[in-house]
Amino acid sequence: MTSERYEGIKFRVEFTSKQPPHDEKLVDLKAWCKKFHDLGLAPPYEGGSYGNLSCRMAAKSDAFIITGSRIGMKHELSDDCFVLVNSCDPEKELVSVSGSREPSSETILHCAIYHNRKDINAIFHGHSQKILKWAQKLNITETREEKPYGTVDLVESLLEVLGSENFLIIKNHGFISMGKSMEEAGNLALLMYNSCK
Ligand SMILES: [Zn+2]
Repeated sequence: MTSERYEGIKFRVEFTSKQPPHDEKLVDLKAWCKKFHDLGLAPPYEGGSYGNLSCRMAAKSDAFIITGSRIGMKHELSDDCFVLVNSCDPEKELVSVSGSREPSSETILHCAIYHNRKDINAIFHGHSQKILKWAQKLNITETREEKPYGTVDLVESLLEVLGSENFLIIKNHGFISMGKSMEEAGNLALLMYNSCK
């Protein structure tokens, strides 16, 4: 992870409703947040955790549920820690959501991946010095340049290398693990983490 501090989200949010998502998928999403916390893949900072996890609402839908900004994964998460993202406009840097808090700072990144990879239904973004250090040895594709978190520049740098791979490194920052299901995305992250010996 870079030394860049968390300063909040870098896009505008339009709330279509203040209602937090209420969906059975939250059970698994909460469990993966806990696992990421326990393994140190979403390291805590004062006020939250460095990491964001999401899942698509339904096959090929643009809508997805994502962790809220500044949620601490060391705590038991309630439904209102999550936000339903209805749509994103990267050009206007505008995100339309339903929920009682702002969505994760990397919401536009998740949105762009779901848009470009219809095969992907879950995206888990975490931070691990261990995985960053092992990226080259494990032959993991990496974005070419370091970009500030939560920006459209970072999104573009990831789209450049996205291809059809399900695990990528954001240079000097963290990793993105993707899958057809949360189980696939989560297990892939665990496999990579466990390969760094
Ligand atoms: Zn990050």
